[in-house]
Amino acid sequence: MNRSSTIQYTDAAVIGAGVLGCFAARALTALDIRVAVIEQREDVSTGITRANTGIIYTGCDNRPGSLKAKMCAEANRGFEDLCRDLGVRFSRCGSLMAAFGPRAEKVLYKKLGFGEENGVEGLKILSRKEVLELEPGISADVTAALYAPGTGTVDPWELGIAAFENAKANGAEFYFGREVKHMEREEGGFLLETERETFHARTVINCAGLSSDAVREMLMVPSVRIFPTAADYLVLDDTVNGYVNHVIFHEPEEKGKGLTLVPTVDGNLLVGPTDRDLLSASPGATDREGLKELEELCGKIVPDLPISEQIRNFSAIRPNSYNVTKKDGVWIPTDRSINDFTILSEEGLISLIGIKTPGLSCAAELGKHAAGLAEEYLGHPGPNPCFDPVRKAPPRLHGMQEEDRAALIKKDPDYGRIVCLCGDISYGEVRDAIRRGAVTLDGVKRRAGTGMGRCQGARCIKEIIGMLAKAQSVLPEDVTKDGAGSEILEVQP
Ligand SMILES: Cc1cc2nc3c(=O)[nH]c(=O)nc-3n(C[C@H](O)[C@H](O)[C@H](O)COP(=O)(O)OP(=O)(O)OC[C@H]3O[C@@H](n4cnc5c(N)ncnc54)[C@H](O)[C@@H]3O)c2cc1C
Repeated sequence: MNRSSTIQYTDAAVIGAGVLGCFAARALTALDIRVAVIEQREDVSTGITRANTGIIYTGCDNRPGSLKAKMCAEANRGFEDLCRDLGVRFSRCGSLMAAFGPRAEKVLYKKLGFGEENGVEGLKILSRKEVLELEPGISADVTAALYAPGTGTVDPWELGIAAFENAKANGAEFYFGREVKHMEREEGGFLLETERETFHARTVINCAGLSSDAVREMLMVPSVRIFPTAADYLVLDDTVNGYVNHVIFHEPEEKGKGLTLVPTVDGNLLVGPTDRDLLSASPGATDREGLKELEELCGKIVPDLPISEQIRNFSAIRPNSYNVTKKDGVWIPTDRSINDFTILSEEGLISLIGIKTPGLSCAAELGKHAAGLAEEYLGHPGPNPCFDPVRKAPPRLHGMQEEDRAALIKKDPDYGRIVCLCGDISYGEVRDAIRRGAVTLDGVKRRAGTGMGRCQGARCIKEIIGMLAKAQSVLPEDVTKDGAGSEILEVQP
């Protein structure tokens, strides 16, 4: 491969700027070292972090003794502190795992046992009457539920973006639009080749999400591989606010995937996910059958929920990891999907492979864990004396007290003009999103929340495209929805 003439030296190179890469970078900047994050896309939080359920789990789903169980229970306990430091909205709404018969009830007791062993507080099995008192919208066919008051929900983008901004403020250098295409060991570390730069790093933290196995295999023989499957979700308008007040996990009576309902921090209701094969022709597409399945299940679990209040649907990709062995020249899985976090530390190459649920809940813990392995490998460099874990969130007008809003607008009139009518989002907030790194329409959406309401951007898209074009000194037709190939405007000949 041709070497790029631009050379960067760093102590730690993080590959991938999803939520895990950003938290790994944040934890690494607490050390007195140089940190570079290399991301193939134009922005953070565009991979698995883009599409998931956004639940902060308690740890009662994980087998005692596993890394997942330990990290999740710990992460959950500290989540308010993390979100306060990072200026991220977090709702500890609690959850009900609802059973509709004896098979599912057994699962509730199993999870209660797991939770108690994992030190999760407040767990309780509720009777039908108690469930209906807490969540009157649930079908009266419910027989029992496991109540977990510690379950919460966040906006996954907000969490990833906050970690990115904090890592950047603490000195991490982010290189977007650079795919690591080649990696080799060299004297004292690693050489990483991208289209634009060659990086020399003493240690590498591989947080490449769906490609984390392939990135590891640039240097190592395969041992764990990702075999992805897909998921579908529905988003209901905030007009359904109040129908469901807790996260509801429906534990199915027959084998198969249950349903999860999440009252989001934005006031919408998220319904999903399904579990199905990836549509190889268009991996990012939703599946009509999957969406129908969700609607039907909703009708059974929360019968009066106005399911027609859908404003969007989307799909996600699950990075299922398996131990592999070679048979007839092909790497095949040896057993069932690995049910724990896979973190491999191989002489300075630290790989987080196929991190599934509860990876979002544990992102800060996983980041610290990876940084700890890097610290050890680098011979315990000292702490960064300037490290500050606090990130100030930009103003969010929606929900702000009237007097605070008036004071803000007086200071900066850009906050006084509403651009996104559905979300009550001002010109000033879109401007801030662009200044903070949004380069696409979805980048603005992930930061400011535009285009997430009932009109899905129909009324604000034109103005935001104009703002993005101006900020990047490009033509409006060059502005994309979500990266290369998703241009929005067509130029008429
Ligand atoms: C359907 C679903 C639902 C989930 N729900 C929950 C939940 O409710 N709660 C919870 O705790 N967890 C949940 N999770 C898990 C959580 O979403 C993931 O653990 C987490 O988002 C993984 O983030 P990541 O940083 O590893 O991956 P990503 O976000 O995919 O980031 C990886 C990044 O690496 C970049 N990259 C890849 N290859 C290269 C390369 N060669 N060079 C440079 N860059 C590269 C990619 O562009 C990408 O940006 C869910 C996951 C799924 C799939």
